[in-house]
Parts: sequence; C-alpha cells; structure tokens
Amino acid sequence: MRYTSTRDPAVSATAAQAVNDGISRDGGLYVPVELPKADYRDMFDCTYPERAQKILDAFFDFDVSGIAERAYATFDGDAAPTVKIDDGLYVLELWHGRTHAFKDMALSVLPHLLTAAKKQEGDARKTLILVATSGDTGKAALEGFKDVDGTAVCVFYPTDGVSRVQKLAMMTQDGSNVNSVGIVGNFDDAQNAVKLAFGDVGLISALEANNTVMSSANSINVGRLVPQIAYYFSAYCDLVTCGEIDDGGKVDFVVPTGNFGNILAGYYAREMGVPIGKLVCASNRNNVLTDFIATGKYDINREFFRTTSPSMDILVSSNLERLLFETSGRDAALTKQRMDALKAVGEYTVSKAEHKKITDIFDCGYADDADCRDAIEHMFDEYGYLIDTHTAAAYAVARKRKSKNPTVVVSTANPYKFAPAVLGALGEEVGGEVTLKTLELLCDLTAMEIPPSLGELFGKKVRFDEVIDKSEIIEYIKKTYGNT
Ligand SMILES: *Cc1c(COP(=O)(O)O)cnc(C)c1O
Repeated sequence: MRYTSTRDPAVSATAAQAVNDGISRDGGLYVPVELPKADYRDMFDCTYPERAQKILDAFFDFDVSGIAERAYATFDGDAAPTVKIDDGLYVLELWHGRTHAFKDMALSVLPHLLTAAKKQEGDARKTLILVATSGDTGKAALEGFKDVDGTAVCVFYPTDGVSRVQKLAMMTQDGSNVNSVGIVGNFDDAQNAVKLAFGDVGLISALEANNTVMSSANSINVGRLVPQIAYYFSAYCDLVTCGEIDDGGKVDFVVPTGNFGNILAGYYAREMGVPIGKLVCASNRNNVLTDFIATGKYDINREFFRTTSPSMDILVSSNLERLLFETSGRDAALTKQRMDALKAVGEYTVSKAEHKKITDIFDCGYADDADCRDAIEHMFDEYGYLIDTHTAAAYAVARKRKSKNPTVVVSTANPYKFAPAVLGALGEEVGGEVTLKTLELLCDLTAMEIPPSLGELFGKKVRFDEVIDKSEIIEYIKKTYGNT
C-alpha cells in the first residue's frame, strides 16, 4: 500500500511513513495511491471493533493486528451505535469514548497506529506528541495517548481561551506520560509556536539527544482519517441487520462539519462501495462549506463567528484538500494551486464540471444558534431524545431536506458536554459554563445519565497548573523533554 501527496505526484510513501510523518514534506496531505477494497457485506455479523479492524487492515500494510480491539475497549458499551428515532430517521452516536465526543473515535486508535508504524520503520525513539488545542482535541489526545508505551503527550492551550470544564479536564488528566500547559496568548499563538517547534533545529537535536522525536496528532494524519471510515460501514450494516433497510438500499448521512474530516471519511466509505446516497455537509453560522458546495467558490474572506457549536467554528477546512484532489481527477498541481490561492487571497473556485461532481455526492445546509436551539427542542419534545449543539446543526439541516432515502444524523458529542446551551434550548436559561449544577439540572430535566467521568471532574485533583508565555513554548519543551 503506497501513499502519495495531494500536492506532489512524485511523493511515494509507505503506509507506516504516512502515519509517522503526518503531513507530506511539500505541505500536501497523504492519500492512498489506490483506494483499498473492503466489502460491507463481509461485516454484517461483526462487532464494531471487528468492522474497524477490517478497515485498518485494508489501509495499513504494517502490523496493525488487535489495534481496534484495544482502542475501542476504552469505550462504554458499543463504540458507535445507530439509534432509531423514527421511521427513516436514525442517529449514529459517536460519543461513547473517554471524552464523550467524536474525536475519540480516531484519537483512541492513532497512538497504537503510531507505535506500530514506528516499529515497522525500525525506529526505537520515543515519540513526543505536541498538541495545540482550543479545548476538545487536547483532552482527547491526552486520553488517547495516556500510558501508551513509547509515547509522551504535551498539550498547550490558551489559558484564557478555553472553557472552565475543558481546562479542568486537562489540568486533572491522569497517566504517567501526559502533560498540559496553559499559554498566555490565544489558540493561534499556541498553534504557531507548536508549528515552529517542529522545525526548530536546536530543539530537534536536544530531543534527539534524549532519544525522542516530535510528532503531531493533527486531524490531517491518515491515522486519524481511516478509523472514521469504519463507522459509515458499521452504521450501514446495522441498518441492514436490524431490517430497517434492504441490502443495497441507499442511505443519506447528515454530518456536523468543521474541518471536513468526519464527512470526508464518509466520502471514502461511499467510494468503497457503501450504498450512501447523499453526504450532507451541515455547518453552523460559519458556513464557508455550505457556500462552497452550493456555488463552487470557497471564500474565507468573511466574518468569523463564535457559536454554541465551537468545534465547528472553522473557516479553513483542511481535509477538503483531499476531496478536491479526488474531484479534480487527482491533479496535484491544480490542488496545490488552489491551496496556494487560499493562502494568498483566501479563495478559489472550481470548474463547472468539477462542481457538478461534488454536488452529485454532497448536499449542504447550515444552522445558526437559533436554528440549533429549535432542533434540540424539537428532537426532545417530539422523540424524547437529547442531542448536543453540534448534532443539532445536522438535525436542523436534515429537517429542512426532502429525500426519499432514510437519513442518518451523525451525532458528535454527548449533550452533557454542552449542558448550558442544551438547557437553554429546553427553556431552562442558565447561561455560562458547564458546572456540576448544570449537569444535574439537565439530568433532572431529561433523566439521561450524566457520564461519570464528566461529573467526577469537579472533585478531581489538579496535576498540571503551569502557565507560560507563548514565547516560552519551545524552551519549555526543550527543558522538559530534551537533553541539554
Ligand atoms: C471536531 C468536531 C466536529 C467537526 O468534525 P470535522 O471532522 O472537523 O468536520 C463536530 N462536532 C464535534 C463535537 C467535534 O468535536
């Protein structure tokens, strides 16, 4: 299995190299030279980890045996259940992992993939995972990498730029190889510093002297993308085996989208033969992708909004590059040109023919905060089923559509993670941050169980309370993990 770059056809990497490198040297993203084959019909009788393992086996030719079983053992119950809401309406729950959101689906697999890939490459060095986070990804990375042999993970977050509960989650993290540090600065400062760290020659050699190499858990790593393909296969199998659809019948998926990683995995599943009708890209008020799919023009020259679905507050959706590479006929030069244009002038436009290819597969829509509130209220009043603010964007878009196909709304977070906004939608205006009290209030109102680890957070001991200036990040890494 070879991988190439979306920006340079001369690149040819092994699967292990692609996982290890994360991003190609030319700035492009790794994509498989040929999409591997997997048949959903071979998965009907399988558990979720068995289905996921078949997908891992198809994409990675190094020893990945047993990885899905180990990764999804950290989930409560079924890793990705499909719940029936009504005739023709289903919810795929992707939040049964340790941080109760969809990032766990991939971030619990990636650490095992990285260790296996390093072994394949004969690389005995320790891997230091550096993460700059605006909240949720940092916690998911800490949980995913904690106590994984041969790795350490260090997360930087803006000390005044994350919610109280997100901060608490990172400060109280357990595990022998974990660390979290507050930054005086915003998320972009943290991200820029981490990017610079990867290229800092002094830091690289100080780490090298300690037998350590840096890596990232970024969502553009194929090791994060591939595990996500599995749940589209799995949801389809569940619908067939439960008798909800006939084998071969088409199903639409509506996906709450930010960085385009989740929905791109759906695209790969569709290309691999899962009978998906339309993939519906649901955005919040930051509706760059809605406009792109509707018109063919991607344009980030617009106002950025903070919404009640913060994980979708994104203007540059990195994983869209992989779709454009495919829809352009695998034209790396054109893909590079578009990405360069995006950087230089903040926009590019695809041809009419290519736009048609995109709209044959993708539908789109967006929901602002008020639409999301309505969607939460409607879902709860009508069906007694509680959804979070991100899933609400997808449900709002799904409700407005007319499709003859059954619809699966992809659910990306446990509603308790966004308790104040969810309470507001149910008519209990509490405002502010998630507290034990808001969790209990939501529990009283809905009788849905509070995830134990979320409730316990408020009594947990703080282990990491360091705060440093953004200018000190590289020095901090050197001092903590290097040999100087
Ligand atoms: C990350 C995230 C999303 C967006 O997923 P992408 O793969 O970035 O499109 C949606 N909802 C939640 C809760 C998330 O954490």
